[in-house]
Amino acid sequence: MDTLLYPQALLKLIEEFQKLPGIGPKSAQRIAFHIIKQNENNVKNLYKSIIDAKEVIKLCSICCNISTQEKCNICSNINRDKENICVVSEASDIIAIEKTKEFFGTYHVLHGLISPIEGIGPDKLKIKELISRINSETKEIILAISPSVEGETTTLYLKKLIKPLNVKVTRIAFGIPVGSELEYSDTITLAKAIEGRREI
Ligand code: ZN
Repeated sequence: MDTLLYPQALLKLIEEFQKLPGIGPKSAQRIAFHIIKQNENNVKNLYKSIIDAKEVIKLCSICCNISTQEKCNICSNINRDKENICVVSEASDIIAIEKTKEFFGTYHVLHGLISPIEGIGPDKLKIKELISRINSETKEIILAISPSVEGETTTLYLKKLIKPLNVKVTRIAFGIPVGSELEYSDTITLAKAIEGRREI
């Protein structure tokens, strides 16, 4: 794209969209053009929904799941067993696992995976929060993390950190195709993966 032909404000908008996950330069340009063609009301609605969502939605103080309350629905549910913690990369993975109806424990959301290439170290994830949750009541930590390069790195890191705490660490079995995202796995495959988890 010939950036000299674009006004600065438009370039800035394209630049901001490019920071979003999965948005490349072409998509960022397409979205920016789409927005400047909209009437003012539509743009204000978009702006307002972003601000409102950011204001209302916070992270659960226990598991870092997205929540509108201090504790998320799962952590505040007295029927969920608190001894088993299923560790996922993103909050959206919880929805995929809940659909399987195979897991009745609680979760912990890392908000990403370790990726040296992208400069994401363990300190950028909610790992400290996970470790501080583990106590004498904790029986099993189930790692439900995709078998990508970043997933493998994160799994190894967590295993080393948790094992010395005398807690069983398991990983879900992979009928899930290697490299695929957990949230896109079909419910039956994922249910089998949880059922067939193995100690690591
Ligand atoms: Zn929670």
